[in-house]
Amino acid sequence: VSRLVLILGDQLTPALSSLSQVDKARDVVVMAEVMGEAATQRHHPKKIALIFSAMRHFAERLRADGWRVRYSRLDDPDNSQSITGELLRRAAETGAQEVITTTPGDWRLTEALDALPLPVTRLEDSRFLATEAEFSAWAKGRKELRMEFFYRLIRRKHGLLMEGDKPAGGKWNYDAENRKPARADLFRPTLPRFAPDAITREVLDLVAQHFPDHFGDLHPFGFATTPEEAEQAATHFFRAALPEFGTYQDAMLKGEDTLYHSLLSPYLNLGLLDPLDLCRRAEAEWRAGRAPLNAAEGFIRQILGWREFVRGIHLLAGPGYTAQNALGHSRPLPAAYWGGETRMACLSDVVRATRENAYAHHIQRLMVTGNFALLAGVDPGAVHDWYLSVYADAHEWVEAPNTIGMSQFADGGMVASKPYVSSGAYIDRMSDYCGGCSYDVKARSGEAACPFNALYWHFLTRHRDRFAANHRMRPMFANLDRMDAATRDAVLDRAEAILIGMDAGKSP
Ligand code: FAD
Ligand code: SF4
Repeated sequence: VSRLVLILGDQLTPALSSLSQVDKARDVVVMAEVMGEAATQRHHPKKIALIFSAMRHFAERLRADGWRVRYSRLDDPDNSQSITGELLRRAAETGAQEVITTTPGDWRLTEALDALPLPVTRLEDSRFLATEAEFSAWAKGRKELRMEFFYRLIRRKHGLLMEGDKPAGGKWNYDAENRKPARADLFRPTLPRFAPDAITREVLDLVAQHFPDHFGDLHPFGFATTPEEAEQAATHFFRAALPEFGTYQDAMLKGEDTLYHSLLSPYLNLGLLDPLDLCRRAEAEWRAGRAPLNAAEGFIRQILGWREFVRGIHLLAGPGYTAQNALGHSRPLPAAYWGGETRMACLSDVVRATRENAYAHHIQRLMVTGNFALLAGVDPGAVHDWYLSVYADAHEWVEAPNTIGMSQFADGGMVASKPYVSSGAYIDRMSDYCGGCSYDVKARSGEAACPFNALYWHFLTRHRDRFAANHRMRPMFANLDRMDAATRDAVLDRAEAILIGMDAGKSP
């Protein structure tokens, strides 16, 4: 009797653990485009198109390699529109009595598979640079989980940027060199775009028809949808952007949607690119003298450090993680996040980029949309839903620790040692947004004051009990205490006015 091999939309890697455990001649691959996955979260149309197109290309490749594939298209009349429903249907069709799969990156689906009335074997996803056991052994007994120490362990394991037992150049981390604002007249690489082939064009029509009211522009669509195209995107990044990647990593410029970032996360997360290969190539660029150490190390740390660390957090924290709300925030997400009106130039540009590209770079996600939601006390569950649906690279295992943990501090400090909050001054330093904004970034009170300013002091005031003892936040509270009472009252009044406006449905 054959087995069913379930391959999910983000498991598009020929060397996948499930595929390596089964028999091409006997077992049947099951892949399914289903409403249950595509519509519950109201994903960005570009994201849905990317995933469906990459899935169809992968299914073709498996067939060409001699696999038997049962592929459910979204508009197949017999499609039950859920992954578990499709597995049961394929089991009935083929007589298969068993399912084998690589463990999904989201808990809801994992639990649904475990509840199937068929035996399901779930294998570890071996595409990561650290195993689940390595992360949990490292985490065990630690009072605090900090990315930096895990990063060093995994860098040693893979011998990346090492000189004997020492980190290349003498330091593990060159982040201090990676905080320069970018000037608008710098030369910046343009991203490669891939013309949709016949498979992608068919998917684009399908998505346009089925998800017309999801937030986000479907066209123009230029994502890579095969490993070969993703490879071209990676090669372009290493040649054109890596050398400046580190220096301008935290910079933002209006209308410049990628700067020196790679935009490789959508491909990495679907399995079209291999994380270790990218890290080795970044190191090779440095060794060949084509990229400075701060760039290669910064890039490697994002993948081998942050990406692996958040995956470990996802596994360790378990299914209840996305419901956490340590700061008790409950305000609805402002309409501006869905394209509604706002006078804030920074927020407006990041939401515009998100709508057009299903992408925003890290510092936009963390210090504009994330920072604002945290300062304004938005329900972290709503923030999580937003990030999970609008970004092409968003899958629960990586999105939730970044949003619930790093950005919203809703996990009470499991991921971040302090909340990522800042006033408008940070955005002004790292971007050119404020010059073109109708708010005054220097003002803290009054109607023209930048909302980040008043809300920043409001956040510190309302969460003083929790954070006053955090040594990294002491300077913030010292600044608050230096404010004279009249100024402080005016600032807090301004914050209250913004929050009352938001509660009445008005984004600032
Ligand atoms: P680059 O800046 O070029 O970095 C290179 C690679 O490093 C990325 O492709 C990515 O794979 C990895 N990386 C960098 N930072 C992180 C990080 N913090 N966590 C995990 N991997 C990282 N990343 C996702 O892949 N999916 C998400 O759903 C996601 N949601 C996020 C939500 C919030 C609130 C925040 C603050 C960050 C989120 N990130 C997420 C992390 C990061 O913003 C993106 O990985 C990055 O912007 C992807 O763009 P890039 O490929 O151009 O990255
Ligand atoms: Fe954003 Fe404030 Fe600057 Fe306007 S003034 S762009 S709201 S930080």
